[in-house]
Amino acid sequence: MSTMMLTEQAQAPGKVNLFFAAGPPRPDGYHDVASLYCAVGTTETVTATLTAGTGITVGVAAVPGSLVAQQIALGSFHLDAVPTDDSNLVVRAARAVLGHLPALPGGLHLQIDKAVPVAGGMGGGSADAAAALVAVNRLAARAGGVPGLDDDALLRLAAGLGADVPFALMGGAAVGTGTGARLRPARVGAPLHLVLVAAEAGLSTPAVYAELDRLRAPEDVPAPELPEGLEDALAAGAPEELAPLLANDLQPAALSLASQLAPVLAAGAADGALASFVSGSGPTVAHLMADAAAAEDLAARLRDEGAPALAVRAP
Ligand code: ATP
Repeated sequence: MSTMMLTEQAQAPGKVNLFFAAGPPRPDGYHDVASLYCAVGTTETVTATLTAGTGITVGVAAVPGSLVAQQIALGSFHLDAVPTDDSNLVVRAARAVLGHLPALPGGLHLQIDKAVPVAGGMGGGSADAAAALVAVNRLAARAGGVPGLDDDALLRLAAGLGADVPFALMGGAAVGTGTGARLRPARVGAPLHLVLVAAEAGLSTPAVYAELDRLRAPEDVPAPELPEGLEDALAAGAPEELAPLLANDLQPAALSLASQLAPVLAAGAADGALASFVSGSGPTVAHLMADAAAAEDLAARLRDEGAPALAVRAP
């Protein structure tokens, strides 16, 4: 087979956690969590292309109109912040897949089209890893003339790459337990309407967990569980029933490290936000709105005020 233009593309969504409870630190340093993940309508795209060279190269571009493109236009983010060496999760994902398939007859280029803010608490790097698993699996299968790995095998590789990678592979909505990688799909009655607001600077997930542990005495921390009625409210497609049940244990820790998030959280109320919350470890803030028109109105107002903001459906 010609190696020219052998290319495969895959997408994976960013996420918010509609609910997130973290237990006390485990002896291994991880935390058990109870998480209600929901994919959002802003997606990462990874294009895997066979090259005439050797080794793996990475390129990164911003998706026009995305939160990342808005951050760049406002001067608060530069794509240089995304590593293009072996520390990029797409390289780790590619190597994980290639370890199970015939060697490629050349090099591999991985192009990431970024829409999800970096270090934003929306699982952008995890989405890149999930998309890379799928794209590289298809590419290596075509190049090698073999079937490629099945979905279960990709899910297992995903769990080895990070707690949020399996969900990025699966999409939709799901309850995550263990470190978040053990997933059970959740029913969604109707898509939610969210406004996502990106921050000026990212927050490191380990730093937010460390702050959480500093703020809480371990003996006071209950085992994480989802509140009663949460999954039913999501299944009923009733955002006003869902709103009072949304909570995120990481939010006080994110606010403690980034106090500038307080006015961002408060900014939705005037436009009828049903709830406003920090996504995952932050600093991205999500406002839950009653409908698409309300979400578009709030996103437009926040953009007018100079904030990177986007109305999305979830999932
Ligand atoms: P999560 O919500 O899963 O905790 P996040 O969305 O807060 O993650 P990411 O954007 O996934 O954070 O990236 C966190 C760090 O990981 C970045 O600061 C960067 O150094 C590194 N990184 C590795 N691969 C990638 C990638 N493909 N995209 C962005 N960052 C990456």
